[in-house]
Amino acid sequence: ISTRAANILSALDIPTSSEVNGVFDGEWKGAGDVVETICPTTGEVLAHVKTASPEELHVAIGKARDAYAFFRHVPAPQRGEILRQIREALASKRSELGALISLEMGKIRTEGVGEVQEFVDICDYGVGLSRMMNGRVIASERPGHSILEGNLLIHMASLVPNPLGVVGVLSAFNFPVAVYGWNLALSLAAGNATIWKPSPTTPLCAIAVTTIISRVLEKNGIPGAVAGLVTGDSDAGAAIVENRDIPLISFTGSERVGRIVGKTVQSRFGKTILELGGNNAAIVMPDADLKMAVPSIFFGAIGTAGQRCTSTRRLYLHRQIADEFLERLQKVYSKIKPGDPLEEKTLLGPVHTAASVGIFEKAVQHLRDIDASILAGGARYTASDISKNLHGGFFVQPTLAVPKSSDPADALWQTETFAPVLNCAVFDELEEAIEWNNAVPQGLSSSLWTRDMRGVGKWLGPSGSDTGIVNVNVGTSGAEIGAAFGGNKSTGWGRESGGDAWKQYVRWSACTVNFSDAAPLAQGVDFSL
Ligand code: NAD
Repeated sequence: ISTRAANILSALDIPTSSEVNGVFDGEWKGAGDVVETICPTTGEVLAHVKTASPEELHVAIGKARDAYAFFRHVPAPQRGEILRQIREALASKRSELGALISLEMGKIRTEGVGEVQEFVDICDYGVGLSRMMNGRVIASERPGHSILEGNLLIHMASLVPNPLGVVGVLSAFNFPVAVYGWNLALSLAAGNATIWKPSPTTPLCAIAVTTIISRVLEKNGIPGAVAGLVTGDSDAGAAIVENRDIPLISFTGSERVGRIVGKTVQSRFGKTILELGGNNAAIVMPDADLKMAVPSIFFGAIGTAGQRCTSTRRLYLHRQIADEFLERLQKVYSKIKPGDPLEEKTLLGPVHTAASVGIFEKAVQHLRDIDASILAGGARYTASDISKNLHGGFFVQPTLAVPKSSDPADALWQTETFAPVLNCAVFDELEEAIEWNNAVPQGLSSSLWTRDMRGVGKWLGPSGSDTGIVNVNVGTSGAEIGAAFGGNKSTGWGRESGGDAWKQYVRWSACTVNFSDAAPLAQGVDFSL
């Protein structure tokens, strides 16, 4: 284990050893492949993690089933109290856990800490929810199927939310903590057990979070498998996805894998929440406040080194302000300096892996092949751009380009490139820009920059943006937990976190109770013998 990883893990009170157990089902273990987790900033090996063997995976799913059978009987407000304690435990380690995210994923410090805060926030939400996961009482059409008490008519047909079972959470590398938090908080409040298969490249974050949660569960006499963990790669993910004992799979990742997961779960009639790729556009109108729009769009494009699902990838500029906007944007691009994400002042960290560098280089090569104007970036950083201790890291230049064609059907505009590459095009009418915004397979986030209420009305209305997150004078990235988060079309239609998202984590029972001495049939059907 590297010194940096060991220091952060010990600040989190997590035992360190040369090989770290990556499986938790109530006990820590790991008899599968031993994998290296790599620091994106330096290229050093942070730790060796013992992943789940197929047998351990099988046992972990069985223990999660048993844990669910216990946990569903714990009253919801008591489950909320456990969430409150998890919230406290996470908040007390906010800074240390944030640092671990920066170390292992590569995002800058404030974003790492922000991710832990998101988990804390959703726990608060789950605590409130634990007293508000109400069903509904419905008027029965059949006589005697309701009772009259004084003036109060109680209809005995009702919709009742019950715990669902084991929820499988498969997550991506770019939010190695918060996405699990969104799922765990709602799943736990709903009375389920959760089994988590994190990204194979961020196992330490998952081990740290699971350790913190397991201590709270243990203190409360709750089986640890209520929040189980199995590290591993696609085989482990596939085994969870195929398992009929897991009624709900919440998958966050690429469209490619999401398509496999969606089909597999559908073929066994399970439920899915799919949170897949984004290809998010920002549209800037001539009356936009450029002082706000330029830094916000810059953050949208290069925050998390362009590796947020909500990163701004397409920029549509009205002809009247296009030149001025690009000039201003070029200036901020030229000022950004790469650095160690753990240092407070760094605003640009590395991309996550060597493969991410490959994705970036391929996209930039394509821009060159089609003769696009590259206004900023366009290459890896050279050794002279970064300090010596970071030479092994995966640093790429944020890239701003204006391709010759703005035809939304071109592959360049249709594809999510998971790297800091922002492509721009110029439009004349808002309607044209909205058409371009909608003309891609993905539908996660979008933003319009304007002061004109008429434009806002179009944008938010029936012929406006077709994405799940539709913003005005707010960048495409940076979600709050209160609203349901998710996207449409090939982003998967899933919704997580706030809003009505919790309703997916329960099984709904439509219950009718007959209090009369007759058994009438609905719709007046007569079946007299
Ligand atoms: P990925 O699809 O490569 O991996 C996601 C997870 O799926 C990992 O845990 C991986 O091990 C697992 N997996 C891989 N093959 C599998 C299989 N055959 N069966 C089951 N599981 C399998 O994604 P990534 O590269 O880690 O993440 C980047 C992608 O995630 C981007 O497309 C990004 O937009 C998306 N993302 C979406 C959201 C959202 O909320 N919409 C949030 C974060 C990331």
